[in-house]
Amino acid sequence: MHKYCLECDWHASTEDGCTPEEVSKRAIDHFVETGHAVDSIRLPPPEILVN
Ligand SMILES: [Zn+2]
Repeated sequence: MHKYCLECDWHASTEDGCTPEEVSKRAIDHFVETGHAVDSIRLPPPEILVN
C-alpha cells in the first residue's frame, strides 16, 4: 500500500516499514492536520496487464 498527497510531497508506504493500518492512519492524520487531499496509487486493472 502506498498513499501520497496530491498537494505536497507527503507520502506513506508499507515499503517504509509501516503496516497498512499505519499507512491509512498517517494519511488521515495528514489530511486532518493540513486539509490536503491524500490519494492511493492505483494499479492498472487486470485486463490491461493481460493485454
Ligand atoms: Zn500534503
